[in-house]
Amino acid sequence: SLRVVAVRGEGIDRELRLRLGQAIPGRVAQTREPLLVPPTLATSDACGTAPDFEIGSAMCVPLVNRGQLLGVLTILAATGVEFEDEDLDILSLFAESVAAAIAKAGLYEAERANVAKLLESDRMKSQFVASVSHELRTPITSIRGAVAASRRTDVPEQREELLDVVDRQSGRLQAMVEEMLVAARMQEEASRPTMGSIDLCELVRVTAMDSELANRPVSLELPERAVVRAEPEAVRRILTNLIENAHKYGVAPVRVAVQVADEQVVISVIDRGPGIAPDQRERIFERFYRVDPNGTKPGMGLGLSIVRGLVESCGGTVWVEDAPGGGAAFRVSLRAGTTADQRAEVVHV
Ligand code: ADP
Repeated sequence: SLRVVAVRGEGIDRELRLRLGQAIPGRVAQTREPLLVPPTLATSDACGTAPDFEIGSAMCVPLVNRGQLLGVLTILAATGVEFEDEDLDILSLFAESVAAAIAKAGLYEAERANVAKLLESDRMKSQFVASVSHELRTPITSIRGAVAASRRTDVPEQREELLDVVDRQSGRLQAMVEEMLVAARMQEEASRPTMGSIDLCELVRVTAMDSELANRPVSLELPERAVVRAEPEAVRRILTNLIENAHKYGVAPVRVAVQVADEQVVISVIDRGPGIAPDQRERIFERFYRVDPNGTKPGMGLGLSIVRGLVESCGGTVWVEDAPGGGAAFRVSLRAGTTADQRAEVVHV
């Protein structure tokens, strides 16, 4: 359809919308032929003006650039003035330059948006390098400190405690390196997961148990059984990541709920923290993006981009919304298994 973009003078309804073929501008957009409208045909209906607006004559030309129609330009004359063929020729010539200028302005805008995106991505990468260096340094410092201290002590219990520090911190390093590798791998190739029928409830129970052992308790709201088509390892990672975030950025209690709705099964990870502001709800799924990059919480901004990649590789969707009563509710929707899947032996995890 056509809408009014720019008007000079009176009598034009700025909210006016015309279908292709409707009134004179609509006809010119359809045929792409310049049109001279003589006084007898220059009615307000034909020209799309206010009913009490008197028109002498009108002309309308298409704005075409490289075969693409960008719009139409209509000129209305006051009563008593009649446009002639020569006027239409001049307007057509003018329209060519106008169309080229509009197209160039469009390209310029697109290029500017592109450059802004590249700059933002560059800024986020620099920030990522800075936060990775910082994140790596923390466990390395602890490990080196523990090794040096254990060299100085002869007390076996103290050595044992220091070894625990080394064990914990090297585990943290390993998890970070793994996170970076998974993110890089996702960027390179569209991973092809081995999809199977899994009982989501069983998987949620096992993951919740692991989480509890890692000091991140969750309460569960599960139906008897909920079979989905997905890759078990991917779903386990998705859940672990969302639960970790709920404890890190949210406030306990953290709940995991599974709801079966027609052909979809929705898993929700809900916390009672500050939640996510509406304008951040898409951005947090971008690689390297963190709401508070200079905050005290450790992280590299990769977790949720990995979550989204994994969910999509299983054919599902993930989003975040406000939890009822406050907090963040991360929701993952996966395709429910078919009746055959429901009966089939589910993969055990
Ligand atoms: P990281 O935890 O390394 O920063 P993520 O991709 O997992 O990376 O998360 C991106 C950002 O989303 C976090 O930095 C945080 O600001 C925000 N976020 C994630 N989960 C929550 C949550 N449950 N509540 C509030 N903010 C969250």
